[in-house]
Amino acid sequence: MAPSSTSPPHNPQNGESGENSENSVWKIQEVPGKGLGVVANQDIAAGTCIISEAPLITTEGISMANTDIAEQQLLNALKKLSKADQERFRSLHNYYTASDPTHPLSGICKSNGYPLGTNTEVGGVFADISRINHSCLPNTVQYWNPLHEKQTIHAVRPIPNGGEVTTSYLAGGTSQERKQFLKENFGFDCACEVCSMLEDKLRESDERLARAEKLDETLGDSKKVRFSPDEVMKSARSMFKIYEEEGIKDGRLGRLYYDLFQLCNMHSDLARARCFAKYYVDSKKMAEGKDSINVLEMFSYVKSPQKHDSFGSTDMWRTGTTDVPKGLKASEFAKWLWRENV
Ligand SMILES: [Zn+2]
Repeated sequence: MAPSSTSPPHNPQNGESGENSENSVWKIQEVPGKGLGVVANQDIAAGTCIISEAPLITTEGISMANTDIAEQQLLNALKKLSKADQERFRSLHNYYTASDPTHPLSGICKSNGYPLGTNTEVGGVFADISRINHSCLPNTVQYWNPLHEKQTIHAVRPIPNGGEVTTSYLAGGTSQERKQFLKENFGFDCACEVCSMLEDKLRESDERLARAEKLDETLGDSKKVRFSPDEVMKSARSMFKIYEEEGIKDGRLGRLYYDLFQLCNMHSDLARARCFAKYYVDSKKMAEGKDSINVLEMFSYVKSPQKHDSFGSTDMWRTGTTDVPKGLKASEFAKWLWRENV
């Protein structure tokens, strides 16, 4: 992540670990107001894997809590890399240069590190992926694929030739929350297409996002999930509409589908559980690729949701796997899916 990098561009021809580097799909170049960024070299379709990259350095075994020790450990790790890769690492942006000039390697890790998976303290620094700038409405999603030990960047909406490739450095929130997080952690004021909307529009967007967070609490309420599933389904429907309005295609959408899969499955509604399992798999394929562990783990439940642990706590919504209606208009199917006519 180099939101305001003034570092010299790395030379991809020298990058020995850089199986990506510049290619026909994208290039690294100056982006007005942002320093270096990644820009599409051709029209990129949604679902395309743009980058799949191994980290230059990971923080596994590095005592990041103690910056003196971390600096020495990072130096040792860096020395094991080729000269070209050492240079690629050192040329990345360091937001902490002024506040902590004596720990440049730790600063680069903190400025550019991505967590390698969920629920992990281990981060990785990537030569090319670190050049992708932030947007609150990103056109790509990043994912650590543990099977390949690579971070992937998939387009989740079309990117025109010459358009900047963007990713999100945060997990969501209102514009105020996002602004504060980005300033504190990366030292820049976000001027993405969402944050630079007119005040009225931005306020409406914030209200929607705050409402979605509130609705999400209903989905996490185990009592309601068990005893008031219709209320939970209604909240999920409202959340889905907000995600559509806000163009959200990141992990929040996948999580919503997964929650709905479990909700329907729990109440023995196999028809809808299948649908939501499929939407989950499709959204993860788009954002993480068909060899994403999330896709591979969920795939069999599209056919046989009853094999999942969540199946059958109640009979409240019982349907069979073949009860998915066929031949309905999209609006009628949506009414069925979201249980608006039962
Ligand atoms: Zn923004």
